Amino acid sequence: MRDLRLLFAASEVYPFAKSGGLADVAHSLPRALNRTCDVHVIMPLYQFIDHELFGIEAIGEPFDIIMGGVAYPVILYICKYEGMTYRFIYTPLLCDREFLYGSPQGEYEDNYIRFGLFNYAILEVLKREKYEIVHLNDWQCALLPLLIKDELTLKTKSLLTIHNLAFQGVFEKKVLTTLGIDEKYFTMDSLEFYGQVNFMKAGIAYADRITTVSPTYAKEILTSEFGCGLEGFLQYHSDKLSGIVNGIDTEHFSPSTDKMLILPYVDLRGKSVNKRAYMKEIQVKDPKKPLVVFIGRFTLQKGLEIFINALPDIALMACNIVILGEGEIQYHDALKVIAEKYDNIHLEFGYDEALSHRIYAASDFFLMPSLFEPCGLAQMIAMNYGSMPIVHSVGGLADTVHDYAAFYTKSQKGYGVVFNNPDSELFLNAVEKALLLYGTKTRFNKIIKHNMLCDFSWKESAELYIKEYENMREDAKYG
Ligand code: ADP
Repeated sequence: MRDLRLLFAASEVYPFAKSGGLADVAHSLPRALNRTCDVHVIMPLYQFIDHELFGIEAIGEPFDIIMGGVAYPVILYICKYEGMTYRFIYTPLLCDREFLYGSPQGEYEDNYIRFGLFNYAILEVLKREKYEIVHLNDWQCALLPLLIKDELTLKTKSLLTIHNLAFQGVFEKKVLTTLGIDEKYFTMDSLEFYGQVNFMKAGIAYADRITTVSPTYAKEILTSEFGCGLEGFLQYHSDKLSGIVNGIDTEHFSPSTDKMLILPYVDLRGKSVNKRAYMKEIQVKDPKKPLVVFIGRFTLQKGLEIFINALPDIALMACNIVILGEGEIQYHDALKVIAEKYDNIHLEFGYDEALSHRIYAASDFFLMPSLFEPCGLAQMIAMNYGSMPIVHSVGGLADTVHDYAAFYTKSQKGYGVVFNNPDSELFLNAVEKALLLYGTKTRFNKIIKHNMLCDFSWKESAELYIKEYENMREDAKYG
């Protein structure tokens, strides 16, 4: 497969730009794939990306992309970073923004032009560079399979990975003209979605293969509960859909080599040094109590309603609580009001990679009461850092966290405290159970030591992606 040239496209890639798990995946999956095939990663060159730091340089002459009869100037860039080749697309409308998709006040209104341009620019790269397969991620790249369809001489096959079906890129019908897309595609079996244009639907209709980020989520999105209106369309295309569980970058998220920690560690003694240091830093009154944490986006998806309802009761239990995140303003406000009432709650607003690592290392329990969770990476990171996840058994959480009651030393699975319905009472019970378990030190330690040794790397899942590419190659040969 070394001869297979793959272009991996995403709207965010760590360490250049990150708003969530997609950036982590777009960082670590291509690295795992690059052991078997020849991978280039492509993304927008946002204005805040440091050219000098990463050695990013322009290649070739600037050119125009014609979209909907309008010319947009584009420059292609490239860099080699940590053994990988990254390609970048610079076009002012897409890239000269403070944020990736929108400000705290809301999504940018011209995202359809911005990411429309991203798709057209990738198409141009495919025409110039002859990649056999393009691996697309989420709605921001999902128009491309439709554009490829119209390029009769282009033989590139496309695989679309859905990281979160809640974001589909839906816009008014009139954007078709700006996007230069023929009206003939405005039908139910193409990108039309209740009278609007849906980028993700175009990808589902025309990609050669579709994957999503866990086997359970692949089944869930075929139901009305999780399908976000696309369940019927996905059922229709289910023969090309499969679920491959995400991995984490076990080098970046490894407590034994993590430079962001006070002291990298391999055992519980080392972990407790990190906990003590962090407890001192935030001046906790009773640092010996178990530390329960939440790190994530403050959104409905992440179970913020459930969490906020339960938080005052959790605060009355024998524990300390740390919350790190940012998101919707009503959740900021509600958390602030509760945190002011309890001196065992420490609240950090913002996005801070280094701080998140220190909190993973310090924590004993990691809360994920998500309403839905395509895969989730945080629970796997937590387990590798010896923090036990407390999760609603949904999507990728169901695939990666197994209830501690079934703990079996010889298994390769990770264990945590699992509850089965997104409900504050059940969540509270789970936290109570977790704290009781913490009291039985020997059993608790045995489980977290086991979790720390579990392999959450990309090894197995990268092989499954390679199989997908092999199948696509075979189809190209015979189809
Ligand atoms: P998402 O749905 O947001 O992609 P994931 O669990 O897949 O959720 O990935 C979230 C990633 O972002 C993890 O690496 C997590 O540690 C990180 N993260 C989330 N919120 C913050 C924050 N406020 N500060 C630092 N890292 C964060």
